[in-house]
Amino acid sequence: MTTASQIAGRTIKSVNPATGAVLRQIDCASDADVRAAVERARRAQPEWNALGVERRIEILRRFQRVLFDRKTEIARAITEEAGKPYVEALLTEVLIVLDSVRFLVENAFGFLRDEVVPHGNPAMKAKRGRILREPHGVIGIISPWNYPFSTPAAETLAALITGNAVVLKPSELTPQTALELAKLLHESGIPDDVFQVVIGDGAVGAALVESAVDKVVFTGSVTTGRLIAQACAARLIPLVLELGGKDPMIVLDDADIDVASSAAVWGAFMNAGQTCLSVERCYVHHALYANFLDACVEKTRKLSVGNGMDPKIEVGPMIHEKQLKIVEAHVEDARARGAQVLAGGSRLLEKGPNFYAPTVIAGVTHDMLIMREETFGPVLPVASFETDEQAIELANDSEFGLAASVWTRDRRRGEALARKIHAGTVMVNDVLSCFGISEAPHGGMKSSGIGRTHGRFGMEEMVRAKYVDIDLVPGMKKVWWYGYGESFARQMEGFVDLLFARGLGKRMTGGVRSAGAVKREKKL
Ligand code: NAD
Repeated sequence: MTTASQIAGRTIKSVNPATGAVLRQIDCASDADVRAAVERARRAQPEWNALGVERRIEILRRFQRVLFDRKTEIARAITEEAGKPYVEALLTEVLIVLDSVRFLVENAFGFLRDEVVPHGNPAMKAKRGRILREPHGVIGIISPWNYPFSTPAAETLAALITGNAVVLKPSELTPQTALELAKLLHESGIPDDVFQVVIGDGAVGAALVESAVDKVVFTGSVTTGRLIAQACAARLIPLVLELGGKDPMIVLDDADIDVASSAAVWGAFMNAGQTCLSVERCYVHHALYANFLDACVEKTRKLSVGNGMDPKIEVGPMIHEKQLKIVEAHVEDARARGAQVLAGGSRLLEKGPNFYAPTVIAGVTHDMLIMREETFGPVLPVASFETDEQAIELANDSEFGLAASVWTRDRRRGEALARKIHAGTVMVNDVLSCFGISEAPHGGMKSSGIGRTHGRFGMEEMVRAKYVDIDLVPGMKKVWWYGYGESFARQMEGFVDLLFARGLGKRMTGGVRSAGAVKREKKL
């Protein structure tokens, strides 16, 4: 693996994926820069934590106001660097962050309040326990390009409000958006050293993991996630991994074809299919299959593809050539194995360098790459099934388990199936939108990741639980201290009986046998 020092002095280019124009050239951080940033964050964090949650809430509220005032400018900057249509940048990036702040400012105070823990064991009754939630210290956040604003911002805000400092390593493909985030945070009153950005490629990310950070929150591919997990294991530090998905959509025999086909088209093509929660596999009951496919093809053909700055555009470019090649390889593999490409299936060179036509593929099977590996492009592969059980089996036949959806007019049936699907989130009659529910935990099962971001669970990842126990009878030696012997062993057997023996009689006898322990002579 390269180290950050090997790329010291190198620059990365931020490129508009719709036009290929270079937007900006930025110097990469060196190994020493990364270490120094973490060191500064470590020094600044205690004061940030000492400010208290109420002051931090005020600062986040200010950030919310500043972001709201600049919403159009920020959304346009995201579109320019990541390619997604402006309205998607506004809703899935800016709005999500505004709402994350709303959730955090409403909940952080209660979340960080000491939690009194009543003790059930009678031997522990003369104590008072509290759980304190303390920040880890410095959180290293490493993020991808597909949601270059909302992904790092939601994680950063949860880390900051709970009293941590953050060093963010954004994707090398979208550094400018991360620097915009830094500007907004600093302008709102977050001290410069409490939130820092280190720019560069994977080597800079690796340097961050190897630095003195106390926890890593990583969002990206499974391959990189494994490397990061190994590096964190070597340092014995905790981590969160938000990795890839191959999300299934199940359309049951009682579903509304018109609604479900619109959902499939939007769910597969939003952000040009480059969403971890995209519909990547669609299973439709055989009775609906033909009509569902017709509806998907018709709707797909109506989509406007082009530069996302144009408000009419619904599907923008993909991020870069490497990602397009993966999509092409998956579509070609499916075609070669007998699947039918009903719409799209090729690049749109006339639109610009990175455009791929929204594609609908029928007759796909699980021996095709398109049903097994993350495609991460504007492709909707559709297969049919016979029974609900078969649909569940197909949905669960994947190394991934990020999210899934079930489509039915019968809510109870949908919920019953949702419980059987192996995924971090299952939506009944919707796709993708759970990412916009700030209260909902986001994260996966199996190769899709470890831990959660967003909501209460997301805040929980940013703190360590510390238990503080106060003994209420400080002048008394404990019954269970030294001075063991035959009679003490009998007394303690009685005590265990008192708590857990079957039958009231045995419990009472146990209580009588144990009573003498309280007054026994202590040896020491
Ligand atoms: P990636 O793994 O290539 O890169 C992600 C980040 O890791 C980048 O900042 C990159 O520079 C950095 N990185 C690369 N090698 C590293 C290393 N050895 N050590 C430390 N950092 C390193 O992923 P990507 O292509 O940027 O993003 C797409 C992937 O992200 C997809 O698989 C997608 O499903 C996933 N994703 C998941 C979620 C989620 O919440 N589960 C959200 C968005 C994206």
